[in-house]
Amino acid sequence: PSYFIVFFIISRLMSIIGKLRPWNPSIPYEILSLDLASRLSANSDSTREVSTDFGKIVQEIPAAVLYPKSTNDIVELIKFSYDLSVPFHIAARGHGHSIRGQAMAQDGVVVEMNSLKNNNNNNNNNNNNNNKNGIYNGIRVSWDSSLGYYADVGGEQLWIDVLRATLEHGLAPVSWTDYLYLTVGGTLSNAGISGQTFKHGPQISNVHEMDVITGKGELVTCSKHMNSELFFAVLGGLGQFGIITRARIVLDKAPTRVKWVRILYADFSKFTKDQEHLISIDGLDYVEGSLMMKQSPLNNWRSSFFSPSNQTKIASLLSENGIIYCLEMVKYYDDQSSNTIDKELKKLLKGLNNLPGFIFKKDATYVDFLNRVRSGELELQSKGLWDVPHPWLNLFVPKSSIMDFNAGVFVDIILKQNMTAGPILVYPTSRKKWDDRMSAVIPEEETFYCVGLLHSSGFNDWQTLDEQNEEILKYCDKAGLKIKQYLPHYKRKEDWIKHFSKKWNIFQQRKTQFDPKMLLSPGQRIFN
Ligand code: FAD
Repeated sequence: PSYFIVFFIISRLMSIIGKLRPWNPSIPYEILSLDLASRLSANSDSTREVSTDFGKIVQEIPAAVLYPKSTNDIVELIKFSYDLSVPFHIAARGHGHSIRGQAMAQDGVVVEMNSLKNNNNNNNNNNNNNNKNGIYNGIRVSWDSSLGYYADVGGEQLWIDVLRATLEHGLAPVSWTDYLYLTVGGTLSNAGISGQTFKHGPQISNVHEMDVITGKGELVTCSKHMNSELFFAVLGGLGQFGIITRARIVLDKAPTRVKWVRILYADFSKFTKDQEHLISIDGLDYVEGSLMMKQSPLNNWRSSFFSPSNQTKIASLLSENGIIYCLEMVKYYDDQSSNTIDKELKKLLKGLNNLPGFIFKKDATYVDFLNRVRSGELELQSKGLWDVPHPWLNLFVPKSSIMDFNAGVFVDIILKQNMTAGPILVYPTSRKKWDDRMSAVIPEEETFYCVGLLHSSGFNDWQTLDEQNEEILKYCDKAGLKIKQYLPHYKRKEDWIKHFSKKWNIFQQRKTQFDPKMLLSPGQRIFN
């Protein structure tokens, strides 16, 4: 027995030592005297966990990870770094669903926002919705006469949880992303787009107010009318100006069901004309579109929509055409409109120029529709195909360039190279639903297309797809298509300057104002 005890102690010690890493000199030891010290971990398990993301392309190891119990911990961390003569970097990590290390902080501290949620769940159980500062970090639904219904939501909350919580009140946010396992802080730092954007604008256009901890460690409440410079900076601000700890989100009455339709086109011009028509009329609640190519599977992780017999029908269409365009639309309804919905839908579909006989319909619950990507995700996870590299490229393409984009990119590059490896989305949206004072960057034209090349690959061949992405960007540049990257990623400062173009000066000024020591979200590689 004594041998056993000695062996046990030695093996425990070895496992602990294995997790200890030498203290990273970029973080002064004095940090261990702060209140937050017990929530700071330099353990290799912790740092490894946050040194990768959904992209599986970049790896950057931070010195430590903070698991905040409250917003005070984040304030204390940022103030500590800000006061140093050589400060360290700090990155909020939402759900880590970036592609290129945007939520990483090499040799700095990553703030695991999710820990705020655990703490707030405890608060909620105690019927106490406020943390030490009196600031609510869970999800709370309210109404007032000027704003109507809204939800106060912690920046760390996942949109799926916002949906569930608001539906308890028969309400829901109006603007979504295709996938709901993303945090409020993460999508508001970009834009948050989907098939509802044409109607309601991106998620950043549906926020009344936020609490933000700036790069100086100041906790500031901001809105269009109060500290508005910070409000507009943070929305689409790529995490550069502050950490969002609360957002007040627009809500509306939630429908219960949806009519969900996909129609097919062989002709890109007819496809885009119909998409543009559908977003110009008042009738639908969601309009998207995607490409089908003979080399890519019909049912990918975005949803399994087509029955096996329909798949056979579509496969023969694809072998004739090589490339087919699928327009996807949804109309919401509830008990009151259930008798008229089919008639209304028929009216909306009338006059469209899709391929006759290629119309596919589904009737689904509102939640199943919004959460449509989840089932595909779980299936891929079970096959080990979800946690693989994702060399994605997301672009905004002006309407006037979309025909050239189709010919030069979809047909001449992607179809010819026979290299697609995931969904390709293409759908129009409207500039008037975006606020130009925000940091998000979009093309100048009134109508522009959201294009997503959502590739998955093996661990050894993502570079080939990435080279194709480079080729696409070069083509767009050479052809003068005036595209903008969404979820942008650049390696050179001049490319960032070109990306922001007329917004670059204000972006820089705001950085100097709100994060003068350039502590925040270094993984975006804009200022460092
Ligand atoms: P993270 O990757 O953790 O962080 C992203 C950036 O935001 C980092 O710079 C980080 O430091 C910063 N950040 C995180 N939290 C905060 C905060 N609280 N305050 C300030 N800064 C913060 N996007 C769309 O618009 N529409 C879609 O339909 C869509 N679908 C997607 C589907 C999948 C499967 C995936 C993986 C991504 C998708 N995205 C989509 C992209 C997604 O919106 C962004 O990658 C988003 O940043 C991910 O959120 P996250 O919580 O994982 O953020």
